[in-house]
Amino acid sequence: MTRSSIISAPAALASAVPNALANARRITVKIGSSLIVGDDGGVRADWLASVGSDLAALRGQGKQLLLVSSGAIALGRRHLGLPVSARLDHKQAAAAAGQSRLMQAWERALAPHAIPVAQLLLTLDDTEQRRRSLNARATLETLLGVGALPVINENDSVATDEIRYGDNDRLSARAAQLIHSDVLILLSDVDGLFTADPARDPSAEHLPHIAAITPQIEALAGGARAAGVGTGGMRTKLDAAAIASGFGCATIIANGRELHPLARLADGARATLVAPSGSPASAYKAWIRGSLAPGGSVHIDAGAARALTAGKSLLPAGVTQVEGRFDQGSCIRILDPAGTEIARGIAAYSAVEAQAIQGRPSADIATRLGYSRCDELIHRDDLVML
Ligand code: GLU
Repeated sequence: MTRSSIISAPAALASAVPNALANARRITVKIGSSLIVGDDGGVRADWLASVGSDLAALRGQGKQLLLVSSGAIALGRRHLGLPVSARLDHKQAAAAAGQSRLMQAWERALAPHAIPVAQLLLTLDDTEQRRRSLNARATLETLLGVGALPVINENDSVATDEIRYGDNDRLSARAAQLIHSDVLILLSDVDGLFTADPARDPSAEHLPHIAAITPQIEALAGGARAAGVGTGGMRTKLDAAAIASGFGCATIIANGRELHPLARLADGARATLVAPSGSPASAYKAWIRGSLAPGGSVHIDAGAARALTAGKSLLPAGVTQVEGRFDQGSCIRILDPAGTEIARGIAAYSAVEAQAIQGRPSADIATRLGYSRCDELIHRDDLVML
């Protein structure tokens, strides 16, 4: 296979990664176990410190960041004296012991930059079920809003094989999707994708840019070894890149062994960039418009209809009637005073809740319900005009 047959726009390649980073508003960084844990089984504290200062620099440029960190199982194994094995119960026990050590390591790495860290442990359902994914997203948005750095890992201690991602590559793509990241960086001990296995074939060429994940590209990842002590190989990285590309997020696959791996990427270090295929908002909105069966509807007044047309969210105040049964996270229809469906969106409150707060100012939500999830019945980001 020739290099030119699977890459695109050669002239722009050198600057593709630095440009993607420079233009990104939100970046999700996934860090593999082999980078966190040293040969002695302990945390690579100097390296984590260098990542901490890279993250601080990116935040200084106004970017919002999400960290997906592996390493709990590897750290916990050593702490508990468990052998390296595929036994799930051992992995679960190791993760329980290692996760707190992992967080301590990140706390230490980020403390010099006064960046508050916040741990989120997710299971597969937290991103694959609409309602739970809304909860996870709301938490992430709040954390980003208050300037915290969310550090995510799989909740390995409770995730059994059937309900498990098993690798943080795909988990990180889903996490990136929750917050509409523009860029996903997968840092491990592989340099990206090559035309052949560079360990075996000296003529293997590095691929700096992948325009689309074709069967041809997938075939290249077929024999790639898993990275060090982690679980993911090149296959799960391409799976992650495919998820990301689908919602308009570029993926950067890079070797993070050296100190300051993110600064190095911004300076043009070698990596593979998988291009996005749509905009984050457009992919999500296409999904709202097309793929969900609306579970109910709300009628709104003329003022609310005008606000929606002007690009605003739907507040409970503008709702005149709630129809059907729907849960928080369901897709519902929005009908104007003439009864015409003008928009569709993801409800932040259930039908029962919506009835209790319809026609009321958002400030009343907490008193009517006893709690408030947010001010909007449907947030603008979750709404599409028809
Ligand atoms: N969640 C696992 C851990 O923290 C890592 C999974 C992976 O290697 O991708 O140890």
